[in-house]
Amino acid sequence: MSRPAAEKRLKELRSLMAKYSYEYYVLDTPSVSDAVYDGLMKELKKLEEQYPDLITPDSPTQRVGGQPLDKFTKVRHSSRMLSLNDVFSREDVEAWVKRTEKLMPGRSHEYFCDIKMDGLACALVYENGELARAITRGDGTTGEDVTTNVRTIKSVPIQLRNDKKYNNFLNGRTEVRGEIIMYKKDFEWLNRQREAAGQPVYANPRNLSAGSIRQLDPKLTAARPLRFKAYDLIRDNPDEVPTYGFAYEALRALGVAANVQASVFKTVDEVMRFVDKWEDKRHELPFNTDGLVIKINDRDLYASLGVVGKNPRAAVAYKYPAEEATTIVKDIVISIGRTGAATPVAVFDPVVVAGTTVQHASLHNADEIGRKDVRIGDTVVIFKAGDIIPQVEHVLTDLRPKSAKKFDMEKELKRQYPELGFERPVGEAVYRVKGATGPLLLKRGLQHFASKGALDIDTLGEKNVVALVDASLVKDAADIYTLTKEQVEKLERFADISAQKLIDAISEKKRPELPRFIYGLGIRHVGAQTAIDLAERFESLEKLQAASLDELIAVEGVGDVVAESIVGWFADPDNQELLKKFDQLGVRPAYVSRAKGPLHGKNFVVTGGLESMGRDLAAERVRQLGGTFQSSVGKDTDYLVVGANVGESKLKKARALGTTQINEKEFLGMIK
Ligand code: NAD
Repeated sequence: MSRPAAEKRLKELRSLMAKYSYEYYVLDTPSVSDAVYDGLMKELKKLEEQYPDLITPDSPTQRVGGQPLDKFTKVRHSSRMLSLNDVFSREDVEAWVKRTEKLMPGRSHEYFCDIKMDGLACALVYENGELARAITRGDGTTGEDVTTNVRTIKSVPIQLRNDKKYNNFLNGRTEVRGEIIMYKKDFEWLNRQREAAGQPVYANPRNLSAGSIRQLDPKLTAARPLRFKAYDLIRDNPDEVPTYGFAYEALRALGVAANVQASVFKTVDEVMRFVDKWEDKRHELPFNTDGLVIKINDRDLYASLGVVGKNPRAAVAYKYPAEEATTIVKDIVISIGRTGAATPVAVFDPVVVAGTTVQHASLHNADEIGRKDVRIGDTVVIFKAGDIIPQVEHVLTDLRPKSAKKFDMEKELKRQYPELGFERPVGEAVYRVKGATGPLLLKRGLQHFASKGALDIDTLGEKNVVALVDASLVKDAADIYTLTKEQVEKLERFADISAQKLIDAISEKKRPELPRFIYGLGIRHVGAQTAIDLAERFESLEKLQAASLDELIAVEGVGDVVAESIVGWFADPDNQELLKKFDQLGVRPAYVSRAKGPLHGKNFVVTGGLESMGRDLAAERVRQLGGTFQSSVGKDTDYLVVGANVGESKLKKARALGTTQINEKEFLGMIK
């Protein structure tokens, strides 16, 4: 992104995130999910990494949480209450380990891992063992004094337990930091009661906990089933708490609850096993989590690593794959399915949702686009759970650029498919290709798939295709690989030998050349030469399928329209099914590089008729040998093959451009 564009985007992101933060931390009523907020945060961080001088002190990457409320007394924390950097994968964890180890070379250390509770952070200050003050995190530096309310929470000891081993903690100041949470079952019980009383239900345990703590009437807080779980223990003399492992033991001995799941590990492998274990199991925990916390166990090392912005270097929050993410719509392309139905598909910057990279989602039809009001340039929330197909949930209209235009389906159909007519049958939401029926399109598609330039399947010509489709023996191109001799034999056109011949011809083409296969798929605007160029660039169907619009446009001869058509084709669920079926039937295109062919890098144009072969065959030979076959003479044409009855205009152009002219005999010499 250019600097001025980044500057503008940063401003918009910060302003929207400030609004979300206010709703979340101050009002306790968020209007978007955490995943949406985290998605915007990721984008913000990436832009700030690219342009570090554009970081401002008020950026959400620099500031913790929200502002303390005026209705409570404000209290300064003894040391800042920080936030944590997010990591999302093993690679992220390894990168963090590498970064930290670089800063403390040669110092062996352990990791301390705990479940990250989704609640409200709070500091409890004990003076000589007695609870003196409870302070919310606030903006990290200053919080709200909520002592009277916190005293009503049963799991907060008013007096620390006297344990011989830890009785030094009863002298002077001991600070316990932790999370105020509500168990899921308590939250549900509370909501059931509200429902029965005809009152509106609460949104989630975190916001209810936060709201309950920030009540002016402690009786209200007391009526809410809140709990406290500690994650930190602070003394004026830091040597009294050497590790996090020690802190948790001491906390429990002093009568303060801390998660029993927390553990100490020696290696990243062990840490990742803990991460994997809790990925599913976390749903069985009594409280909501938003991941794990991974820290350097040794507190001296921890402190020496310091803080960047609002995050300590020595700890990270591991976030499990979210089912929502945000991204920007780059285009809306239309794909034509097997039945001739036109489906608009949103194409966006690749984004990871529920653990997989997603770069397009069906928008179903024009009405649905209208309802969601999705426009090119919009920032959208993508939802994907497990194997469910990704969906555009909604648009973050606050981030809509002025240039975003409403999508006009009819206009786009004309632009993307100028040669086709469309109609929208009465009462239907979907536009269809005029006059097209499933079987008709299948016949055309299959004929193309089997044709000379594509898979070149002997004896599978027009009439045989029609016979197979009319007999309902094939419902898509992959079905031809399931045909048996017995099935084919029964058809009028076939006998014993001809049926066997067809089956053999088909099974011979189970490992088609990649460019032929790509061409055979019949993706609109992808001709034989484009198919070759795509095969050369991506080398496998999987990589072509995953290619982004930008990667496709970077391929020679591929412009916007072609790239859109390719993305649209692969985004169509029918086509995805078809490719899966090919694979299951063992039909796997093979890639052989043509880069080493003797005609590699040479561009040919044929003008006039050739005596020895048709133009198609000439083109195929050129391509087989690594050359490129062009339809008209251009600056990059190397050879103009001059056949019989040539028009003067082509020759004139070739002369003007200085293109080498050769006759048929010379050409045959080159392609022998
Ligand atoms: P954070 O994710 O940076 O994590 C730090 C906090 O984790 C600590 O302050 C502590 O309170 C807590 N924590 C829980 N268990 C812990 C444990 N075992 N050990 C140590 N710490 C533990 O927290 P944050 O600074 O509040 O960050 C932002 C979070 O708030 C994100 O998840 C974000 O999605 C959410 N948020 C959401 C919205 C919204 O509109 N939905 C707005 C702002 C922020």
